[in-house]
Amino acid sequence: MSFRRIDIHAHLNFSAYNADREEVINRALEGGTAFINVGTDNVTSRESVELANKYEKGVYAIVGRHPADNVDEIFDPAKYRELLKHPKVVGIGECGLDYFHILPGGAEKQKNTFIAQIELANEFSKPLMLHVRDAYDDALAILKSHANVVGDVHFFAGTIEQARAFLDIGYTLSFTGVITFAKQYEELVEFVPLDMIQAETDCPFVAPAPYRGKRNEPSYVSEVVSKISQIKKLPVDNIEKALLINAKRMFGIDL
Ligand SMILES: [Zn+2]
Repeated sequence: MSFRRIDIHAHLNFSAYNADREEVINRALEGGTAFINVGTDNVTSRESVELANKYEKGVYAIVGRHPADNVDEIFDPAKYRELLKHPKVVGIGECGLDYFHILPGGAEKQKNTFIAQIELANEFSKPLMLHVRDAYDDALAILKSHANVVGDVHFFAGTIEQARAFLDIGYTLSFTGVITFAKQYEELVEFVPLDMIQAETDCPFVAPAPYRGKRNEPSYVSEVVSKISQIKKLPVDNIEKALLINAKRMFGIDL
């Protein structure tokens, strides 16, 4: 099996796929799309590892605790250390800061949980899969003072300045299907260098055009790739190759 592209951020373990998970996965793999399934707590992280272990090639896992305050779990590194021993686990996340989904006084707790996951990433030399919402500057400060590893900023929606600051410390920026229908991303996609950009679906959420409003899936990452090619005015082939190289480098994947 040879892969043309990779969706670096998917949630195939979510219940949205209970009826046809295998079909969705096979559609991706047979169409040349590999993907990384990302956990949001210990249960979904464990499911991501199980899913990755079911397939010989093309399915990977990232394990961690989502920063939002509606995730009901106190982060326990021991539970994640065990998952990190699996060779298909290629990163830690999604972790970060989410000041949109926050309870009063929640920032300190979010910061501590984030730092604990950065320390785990340092310990295992694994990249971070960052979820940052309304908190780019705080996340940057924490990374600069704690992280010895790099990573990817998932669903990047910051300013050009913030993009530059993440790029300067070696973080790639990934974009979802939102760029296929929201014009305000064009400048950002144009700005991020070809060797520092990644594509993702964040499925089942935010399906790209022409699937808007429907359930999303990893094979639709091709729409994100073609939008990047359109914005950067480069052939799809070149973009696909560059994105594969970026993902392999960041996550140590051998595709
Ligand atoms: Zn996600």
